[in-house]
Amino acid sequence: MSKVLIIGAGGVGSVVTHKCAMLSEVFTEIMLASRTKAKCDAIAADIKEMHGVSISTAKVDADQVPELVALIKEFNPVMVINVALPYQDLTIMDACLETGVHYLDTANYEPIDEAKFEYKWQWAYQDKFKEAGLMALLGCGFDPGVTGVFTAYAQKHHFEQIHYLDIVDCNAGNHGKAFATNFNPEINIREITQKGRYWQKGEWVETDPLSIHKPIDYPEIGPKESYLLYHEELESLTKNIPHLKRARFWMTFSQEYITHLRVLENVGMTRIDPVMYEGKEIVPLQFLKAVLPEPSSLGEGYSGKTSIGCQIKGIKDGEEKTYYVYNNCDHAAVYQEVKAQAVSYTTGVPAMIGAMLMVTGKWQKAGVYNVEEFDPDPFMDALNQYGLPWNEKINIPLPHEYDVQ
Ligand code: NDP
Repeated sequence: MSKVLIIGAGGVGSVVTHKCAMLSEVFTEIMLASRTKAKCDAIAADIKEMHGVSISTAKVDADQVPELVALIKEFNPVMVINVALPYQDLTIMDACLETGVHYLDTANYEPIDEAKFEYKWQWAYQDKFKEAGLMALLGCGFDPGVTGVFTAYAQKHHFEQIHYLDIVDCNAGNHGKAFATNFNPEINIREITQKGRYWQKGEWVETDPLSIHKPIDYPEIGPKESYLLYHEELESLTKNIPHLKRARFWMTFSQEYITHLRVLENVGMTRIDPVMYEGKEIVPLQFLKAVLPEPSSLGEGYSGKTSIGCQIKGIKDGEEKTYYVYNNCDHAAVYQEVKAQAVSYTTGVPAMIGAMLMVTGKWQKAGVYNVEEFDPDPFMDALNQYGLPWNEKINIPLPHEYDVQ
C-alpha cells in the first residue's frame, strides 16, 4: 500500500525499519538510507533473516537538500521517517516540501553550534506544509511522542481540566558498560547538561542543571533517583493542553552516570565549541561521541526495564482525580524481537505507529503538528498491538506535592 523512506541507521532507525518490515501489509516497500550505507546493509540483512522481508538501502548525506531530493525522487515514497539527528530536521523538511511527501520525526531541531532545542524553527513551516497539502508530525518517539499521546488520552477520557503533569522516565536497565548513553551521545549529553526548566503558573522556571532530584517509585521497579530536566514535549504540551498549572519532566540517572558526566564536564569534554588539536579544529563532544559505545550496540546482554509515563492530577466531575498511565519495556525481550535495547525500541515503535496512522489516513491533515493534536485512541490501541502495552492507575496517591494555585 505505501512506500516509506527511513533516514538514519542508528539504534532508533534499526527498530523503525524492523517494525515497518514486520507490518508489510501497510509498508509495502521500505528504503533505509543513512550517512554510512554499510550500517543500512547490516540492518537489511538482519531484517531479511529475522522477518523474511527485503528492503532497499542507500547512502545519503541528510544535511544536503539536493542529495535528499534526488533520493526521494528516485524512490518516490509517500513519506519520510526522519530518525537521523535533530540537526537534519530542517533539511529533510525542505526536501519533503520540494518533492511533495509527508514527514515525521522524533526529536526537534537544534542548531549544531547551540544546544538549544525549540519547536520554533519547525513550527515556522506550518504555512508551507499547509499550502503544499502535506503533513509533518513532530516528536513521534516516546518522549516526546507517547507522553503527548498519553496526556491527550487523559484529557479526552479522564479529565475536564488537567492541572498538574509530571512526565516520569526511568531506565532501570543495566548494559554492563561503565558509561554509555542510550541514544545518540552527542544529543543526549547536550540535553542533560542544559539548565532544567519547568512550567508553573504560566511561565518557565529555570533551574541549575540536575539540581532538583528526588526518588520516584516506578511500577515493578521501585524508587529511583529522578532528576528534573527540560524536555521538548513540555513546550508543545503547555501550548496544546489548556488549564495546566504546572508541567515537569523527570528522568532517572545512576550515581555512576552522574559521576562520569561531572568529570567529563569538568575536564571540558562536553564542550560543543571547536578547539584546536594538532592544527585541526575538533569539537570535544563530537570526539567523545566517537569513543563511546554506539546506542545500537548496547542491546546484547542488556537486562532490566524502562518505565515511562505521565502522572496527572486534575478535575473530573467537579472532583479532584489522579491518573498515572505508563509503559514498562524489557531490554532483553526487545533484543529477542528486533536486536535492540529498550530506549531505541520505545522510540522506534511509536515512530512506526505514527507513520502507519499517517499513511492509512487515520491521522492526516495538512500542516505541522505535535502528536497531542490528534485523536489519541488509535495510537493507544496500536501501542498495545505493536509492542508497547500501557497500564493505568486511577486515583492512587502520586508522589508529587501539588500546591500551585
Ligand atoms: P544514533 O546515533 O544511533 O543514530 C543516528 C543515525 O543518524 C546514524 O546512523 C547516523 O549515521 C545518522 N546520521 C547522522 N547524521 C547524518 C546525516 N547528515 N545524514 C544521514 N544520516 C545521518 O542515534 P539514535 O538512533 O539513538 O537516535 C536517533 C534520533 O532519535 C535522534 O534524533 C534522537 O534525538 C532521537 N530520539 C528520540 C527519542 C524520543 O523518545 N523521542 C528517544 C531517543 C532518541 P552514522 O551511523 O554514519 O553516524
